[in-house]
Amino acid sequence: MKRIFLLLSAAFLLFTGCESTQERITKQSFAFDTVISITADKKDKEHIDKALGMCNEYELIFSRTNPESELYKINNLSVSTLSPHMENVLNFSLDFSEKTQGAFDITVAPLCALWNVNSRKEPPTEAEVKAALNTVGYEKLSLSPFSLNGATLDLGAVAKGYIADKLAEGFREKGVDNVIIDLGGNVFVLGEYTVGIRNPSSPDEVFATIKLKDKSAVTSGAYQRYFEYEGKRYHHIIDPRTGYSAQSGISSVTVVSPSSMHADALSTAIFILGEDALSLCNEFPDTDALIITKDNKVITTDNFEEKYNLSIQ
Ligand code: AMP
Ligand code: MG
Repeated sequence: MKRIFLLLSAAFLLFTGCESTQERITKQSFAFDTVISITADKKDKEHIDKALGMCNEYELIFSRTNPESELYKINNLSVSTLSPHMENVLNFSLDFSEKTQGAFDITVAPLCALWNVNSRKEPPTEAEVKAALNTVGYEKLSLSPFSLNGATLDLGAVAKGYIADKLAEGFREKGVDNVIIDLGGNVFVLGEYTVGIRNPSSPDEVFATIKLKDKSAVTSGAYQRYFEYEGKRYHHIIDPRTGYSAQSGISSVTVVSPSSMHADALSTAIFILGEDALSLCNEFPDTDALIITKDNKVITTDNFEEKYNLSIQ
């Protein structure tokens, strides 16, 4: 049996047990502030190129920081006509913000900008956090008619999931059914693969493996983007109730679902709310989750072990 071993960008180590007589190819690009890669049969190379090209187009819709993007124009130039893709993501996100009572909140943008964990060296002052918090709250956002009412939007917790779903849909439509889409922590596999979940305390190591077929797996972890100051870690997942990095005792959450958008939003929300929020998975079809706590305990939704052939390394 041929066994391919791939080191994927943000969240997973991945290898397949699929028998494949076809030569495989992996192509990489940079989008959504992360390395993205797509693997498929070599004969499907042009479909990979097309999908990577689509990533650039999606970036021009969902990036918070690119002045050319639709989201940037909504936030900074009060543009209020929405593309269908934007409308889809905002509809889902607003609904999900309500479901999580604002733990997941796409109006968290001022806090993300303030914390800016990629380049900050020390935390902002309490007064700065408080001022940013005053402009956060999904209740401010109205979709029809569209109005921000002083809020600004960040889709970093959900857009990659939406895009992974669209790319997978595109491959399926073309009859390409053996693909790994990796958008830096959001993985979608068409075909059957064994996927490794990184050890959050030592991210180059595999903590556990799971078997996936035609599904997405998305991990949110405190090890993905952060800085440390005076022995304390400040990471990129913000609890809108406090204005600070979420501290729920979780090191990483991996959500498995046929919808990468659902998995993406859920992984962020469960990370913030803690293990009791695993029950949120019940609200979505065929969706499950695995938590690794700070003290290395594993907590999962029911039957996870059997359903995904969980193997802790
Ligand atoms: P993820 O890596 O999917 O958990 O998403 C984290 C990203 O989502 C951050 O980098 C921010 O862009 C954004 N974000 C941070 N906190 C929240 C939150 N409470 N609700 C929604 N989006 C958030
Ligand atoms: Mg997410």
